[in-house]
Amino acid sequence: MIPTGATIGILGGGQLGRMIAMAAAQLGYRCHVFAPEKDSVAAEVSADFTCASWHDQAALSGFAQDCAVITYEFENVPVAPLAAIPDGRLISGRRALEVAQDRLAEKRFVAELGGRPAPYAAVDGGAADGEAELREAVERVGLPGILKTRRDGYDGKGQWRVASLREIDGLRIPRSGLVFEGLVRFEAEFSVILARRADGVIAFWDSAQNVHQGGILARSFLPPSQAVLDQVDEARALSRKVADALGYVGVMALEFFATADGPVFNEMAPRVHNSGHWTIEGAVTSQFENHVRAICGLPLGDTSTVGGQVEMRNLIGDEAADVAGLLGDPQAHLHLYGKAEARPGRKMGHVTRIG
Ligand code: AMP
Repeated sequence: MIPTGATIGILGGGQLGRMIAMAAAQLGYRCHVFAPEKDSVAAEVSADFTCASWHDQAALSGFAQDCAVITYEFENVPVAPLAAIPDGRLISGRRALEVAQDRLAEKRFVAELGGRPAPYAAVDGGAADGEAELREAVERVGLPGILKTRRDGYDGKGQWRVASLREIDGLRIPRSGLVFEGLVRFEAEFSVILARRADGVIAFWDSAQNVHQGGILARSFLPPSQAVLDQVDEARALSRKVADALGYVGVMALEFFATADGPVFNEMAPRVHNSGHWTIEGAVTSQFENHVRAICGLPLGDTSTVGGQVEMRNLIGDEAADVAGLLGDPQAHLHLYGKAEARPGRKMGHVTRIG
């Protein structure tokens, strides 16, 4: 058990780290954020901040010395430099990062455990003629589909919808490091969010139904549709296998499509997740608190939903500008992330409503 008063290290400086740090403070821990960007909204609410490149091994090693345990809030942290952190201290492990950083590795990993991803084909630059390889992938999977970069895509970035072969010719992107996925006809999207302790104890939150707009999560709500309720057990069984196989410690999320043929795996995130923000007010114990409890070896809190209906809505771009208007709804729980610039597509905060 990590004693109260000890320092938790957080790799990544965004809003997820900010909300982990706030939960950690409630349990009496200090946080030390490591991030390459100067304007870290997680560092603003933490005791210490190391602002350095992910590849700065000396900085990582100094950071590690200050921390009793280290977690991440961002899955695209380069893995090789993390060798500077002593074994075991990076409690959630490196394997989960390796798998989740690469859409192809992730799909293969999940398929080996019995999960079903959308039909896909890799475009990895193996063939001399990249154009032909891409066409072949598209023909094998079928149209319509989505071309995605294997790495570094998030919130719909690095994705191109393809309805006809002709559209591919116009795409000014490298013909490697891609995966082409068939478009899944889904009834609903949902996520399984779980907390796992080092001893293998797992707790699940109720699954919210998620609505995306332009590849970005717009809102999550509970209870979800019947299609989701019918498929949660199967999705949870797979999620448990994934967390166990990775030896993962902390909160992780797996996103699914509820289809007429059962749950189709979309992607995983070995970290707290946007579709779990509703748990701050909507569950007995939030995903952030249970993440801290899990990585510190404390007992997990109750994950039950409180109140019958819960809705979390993201505030994207200038949607967070009218604070007084948002608080005009006395039932609204407003969370602002403290980001200075409201760029289009940027997550600035969220609002949760219970009941
Ligand atoms: P991703 O970043 O892969 O999670 O994609 C973001 C969103 O785009 C998903 O939550 C879906 O709404 C949509 N999407 C991505 N891949 C597919 C697919 N193969 N079929 C249908 N919709 C998809």
